[in-house]
Amino acid sequence: MQLLASYLSGSWSPGAGARATLVNPATEAPLAEVATGGHDLAAAFSHARTAGVRELARLTFAERGALLGALAKAIHGAREELIALAVANGGNTRGDAKFDIDGGAVTLSHYAELGGRLGGATLLADGDPIQVGRTARMGGQHVWAPRRGVAVHINAFNFPGWGLCEKLAPALLAGMPVIAKPATATALVAHRMVELFAPLLPPGALQLLVGPAGALLDHLAPTDVVAFTGGSATARALRTHERIVGRSVRLNVEADSLNAAILAPDVALSSEAGALFLADVVRDLTQKTGQKCTAIRRVLVPADREGEVIEALRERLGAIAVGDPARDDVRMGPLATAQQLRDVREGIARLAAATHPVFGGSGEVAPLGVAPGTGYFVGPVVRATDTPMSCAPLHEHEIFGPVVTLAPYDGDPVFAASFVARGEGCLVSSAYSDDRDWVAGFVSSSAAWAGRLYLGSSKMAAQSPGPGTALPSLLHGGPGRAGGGEELGGERGLHAYLQRTALEGDASVLKSLLG
Ligand code: NAP
Repeated sequence: MQLLASYLSGSWSPGAGARATLVNPATEAPLAEVATGGHDLAAAFSHARTAGVRELARLTFAERGALLGALAKAIHGAREELIALAVANGGNTRGDAKFDIDGGAVTLSHYAELGGRLGGATLLADGDPIQVGRTARMGGQHVWAPRRGVAVHINAFNFPGWGLCEKLAPALLAGMPVIAKPATATALVAHRMVELFAPLLPPGALQLLVGPAGALLDHLAPTDVVAFTGGSATARALRTHERIVGRSVRLNVEADSLNAAILAPDVALSSEAGALFLADVVRDLTQKTGQKCTAIRRVLVPADREGEVIEALRERLGAIAVGDPARDDVRMGPLATAQQLRDVREGIARLAAATHPVFGGSGEVAPLGVAPGTGYFVGPVVRATDTPMSCAPLHEHEIFGPVVTLAPYDGDPVFAASFVARGEGCLVSSAYSDDRDWVAGFVSSSAAWAGRLYLGSSKMAAQSPGPGTALPSLLHGGPGRAGGGEELGGERGLHAYLQRTALEGDASVLKSLLG
């Protein structure tokens, strides 16, 4: 069986000690192994701090952007191979796999273009020059400057391809070398991507640790950055890590999120906005088997429309074939790991005690193309509650799988916003309305609780990628439960990897520094 190696200090090293096995979550067949330790992480950090920092600092934004363009091209060249790995190791249907892998390439291309636009700059301006003296001679200017440290990227199991690229692109463009650590269970895609990327990048610019993090964080220094995506319990451990606290290491967290979708009272289900709402809910329930941090978990509908929404969801979800994602006729694969199956079942049981069933019971399913009892399968589940604000399990526990809960309301946008807020911070929430006054009331009351608000309407329906798609040009992250972090958002995504410094001096000198 293949032993996945880590790429550290310029060479591939298998590690040592006990091994963890990566499996196909549909068949439970073993696919590869990783060592759980035995790496010289001090040497890896030193390699990044010397060769990586030096080589990236030699390049302009445009030149680093060109490198990102080459990485995107490498993904395109190996697309079918990467899709096959995602299907085998991630439980992805072909569509799920494309979402992950093409999403990675699109993000790299976005930052490649941004690099071209930033050109030969060495510092980026943050706002306009400011007069701080008696005359215009004495000025101030905020700038974004290189941090000259190491970016440590720790990723979740659900997007091994996109997760690697969406963190890598802004860090490399900003000039920071990266040590990437994918989630162990689904590391095959990230491992193959790094095999493709490493020969295209300067020495030290990208390293890969497969297997558990071990002592990875013990080597952090003050100008380093840790960008983490994963569960809130792990996030808590990182927030209190002695090295992160002691050295004030910058930490960005993308964690759990109970994203809401609101149907406004003006929208008929038969309208374009109504069809968009239904399509988005069904897509988010089933795409990646609900294992998207941005997936809709809570749905608020006008009380007089609830029966109609339930009928429409039953009809659409009844047509979803669940099974081995390698089959063309399967629309939803298994959960990614045995632990995920345990967690999702526990979550459904907790939710079931406080809600009534609408579709899919507790997720029991007879998957297509696998032996009975094999694989980590759960079918789509819809639950409902009559008490939208007091149904605690709905708002307090993210079930990271194909589960959504409906609740009725009277159509008030301020109530809809408090429903969003009840989740205590989310990555994205969506509202579907063609009534601009309703939308204005909803946005002003709910924006504090979401990193992104997706405003579905008849006019944009034909072009919409849905709320579940994180775009490189828009912020990804959210307050509170979602971790309080921010990634992407075009040039904003670079800021995590740059130091904002206020320069004070002769205004003409400040101007010349910015070129
Ligand atoms: P997880 O168990 O927290 O693991 C996330 C990553 O952290 C993995 O790479 C894991 O490595 C690593 N890790 C675990 N313990 C660590 C430690 N002590 N020090 C350093 N790294 C450590 O989360 P998951 O199960 O992979 O992902 C599911 C969760 O991620 C869900 O709750 C979901 O909401 C969240 N998520 C959020 C976003 C977002 O953008 N906000 C996106 C996707 C997922 P190993 O795999 O080796 O244990």
